[in-house]
Amino acid sequence: MKKESNLKQLLRYAGGYKYLTVASWIFSALSALAALLPFVYIWKVIREVLDAAPDYGAVQNLSYNGWMAVISAVAAILIYIAALICSHLAAFRVQANIRRAAMHHIVTLPMGFMDGIGSGKVRKIVYESSAATETYLAHQLPDKANALATPVGLFVLLFVFDWRLGLLSLLPVAAAFLIMSVMTGKRMRKKMEEYNNALGQMAGEAVEYVRGISVVKTFGQSVFSFRRFKESIDNYEKWVIAYTKDLRFPMMCYTTLVNGIFAVLIAAALVMTSGGVTNEFLLNLMYYIIITPIITLTLTKIMYASENKLIVADAMSRIDSIMEMKPLPETKSPKRPMDNSVEFSGVSFRYKDARRNALENISLTINPGEHVAFVGPSGGGKTTLASIAARFQDIENGSVKIGGVNVKDIPKEELMDTVSFVFQDSRLLKTSILENVRMAKPDASREEILKALRDAQCDDILEKLPKGVDTVVGAKGVYLSGGEQQRISIARVMLKNAPVLILDEATAFADPDNEAKVQAAFSVLAKGKTVLMIAHRLSTVIGADRIVVIKDGKIADTGTHEQLKAKDGLYAEMWRQYNKAAKWKVGVSNA
Ligand code: ADP
Ligand code: MG
Repeated sequence: MKKESNLKQLLRYAGGYKYLTVASWIFSALSALAALLPFVYIWKVIREVLDAAPDYGAVQNLSYNGWMAVISAVAAILIYIAALICSHLAAFRVQANIRRAAMHHIVTLPMGFMDGIGSGKVRKIVYESSAATETYLAHQLPDKANALATPVGLFVLLFVFDWRLGLLSLLPVAAAFLIMSVMTGKRMRKKMEEYNNALGQMAGEAVEYVRGISVVKTFGQSVFSFRRFKESIDNYEKWVIAYTKDLRFPMMCYTTLVNGIFAVLIAAALVMTSGGVTNEFLLNLMYYIIITPIITLTLTKIMYASENKLIVADAMSRIDSIMEMKPLPETKSPKRPMDNSVEFSGVSFRYKDARRNALENISLTINPGEHVAFVGPSGGGKTTLASIAARFQDIENGSVKIGGVNVKDIPKEELMDTVSFVFQDSRLLKTSILENVRMAKPDASREEILKALRDAQCDDILEKLPKGVDTVVGAKGVYLSGGEQQRISIARVMLKNAPVLILDEATAFADPDNEAKVQAAFSVLAKGKTVLMIAHRLSTVIGADRIVVIKDGKIADTGTHEQLKAKDGLYAEMWRQYNKAAKWKVGVSNA
């Protein structure tokens, strides 16, 4: 049942190439039958030689039969190649279509989705699972058709010559089949799934680990500080060993049986010939011994096909897990924001699987053109609140309005044109700086882009690069510091010129020069816009129109710098800490 639906699902991705897939099975089955012919001709050769012995001069059809054996063998190979050509054309198309469908789907998902699942895992699902379907369609299914056609042909051939020997050579086959069905049964399917989960988790953790390696190095922690990574490896080890142990005995029996068919035949022949041997019997025995390798080969092929059926079933369900994620619902009554205000009312939000709310009943109105800074302890909910304004996640309780319109009612493109964000870890793509900036506005002219870069204080970056604005980011010898990358992404946002800005200020800069430039770029960018700034250093907060202190998912306080400093609250305490740290810094540099 499941098998059929997997195949159906795969063929849905094949489009018109579906017929090539079917053609590949037919060719492959034909090739299997053609591959049996040489054995018949070889049998004829042996018979002729035995019949003529010892007068070998009487042999007449030797070369004819010999050539027919060669020709049918070559024909079998050629037909098989034709099958593979068909299957590959279809398989690559399916693989490409799956990737395309998954990527198209991913862009419709809420931005918050990557956070939940981890980009390493997404990559693995999109690339490796679709690759698994490629092997399945291109090789395994045609091989399966091949493997199924062979027994049919064999069955005829086995019983044509000596039914007793034919039956005997099938006995080990029957036993092997039984063992195989145990190995690919329901329990094993579950094992395979668990094994793949462990593998996927390890791959995901590895990506996160590599990302975090600089932190480990800086703080001199041991590898074991990445407990999750280590746990995932241990878990994987556990599964591999359990899986292997479970399969050890059946696999051993299976291998022995399928490779030992000829031994059964020889033993039987000894018994059957105790009363004397005829030429005819000897001939048949030789025939069966010659043909047994095909039985073994066929069985092995069938077994791998079933194992791979499990792999592909698992791959398909992983792809489905992405395809089934709900995109952000598109509004039925699209409206345009009326101004540049942002209004949160009664917003509560909990991340999927989290134990407590990240935001708790937050209400806050930001007027058009107002600059608001979010401050507060780490984990308080600042980033979450800001990302909800850009609809990275949909909320269930409360509402977020931009320009008086619920963000759910603003069409996606309109929302993107209205709200821009600069993240802490701004990512640049591996293309020229010009193209990186142009992403924000595909029809921008070169002059516009250069102006945006100038406004974002990037001139010094362009000057030091070998090809200026056309230098490819990430190319050999091109290095951009975090602050430089952030300035380029500010240029991007500058070019887009959206009226509402969300800025996640970088926590630390390596050098004060860069910091000053980023600050200058920010202030050009923020001019005349509604700004939500997540501030990490209080020096940037002082200039804000309003400061919102966020703690434990709630608004702890709001006011201007002077107002909040005067109160004896969290902000005043943060301000004192900040000043102490600043004095300490000055003290050190003077020493
Ligand atoms: P801040 O920006 O103030 O440091 P965040 O908004 O990042 O705070 O986090 C608020 C809370 O939500 C924290 O408890 C954090 O652990 C949790 N959180 C943040 N991102 C996620 C996520 N993707 N999945 C689950 N929980 C998250
Ligand atoms: Mg944050």
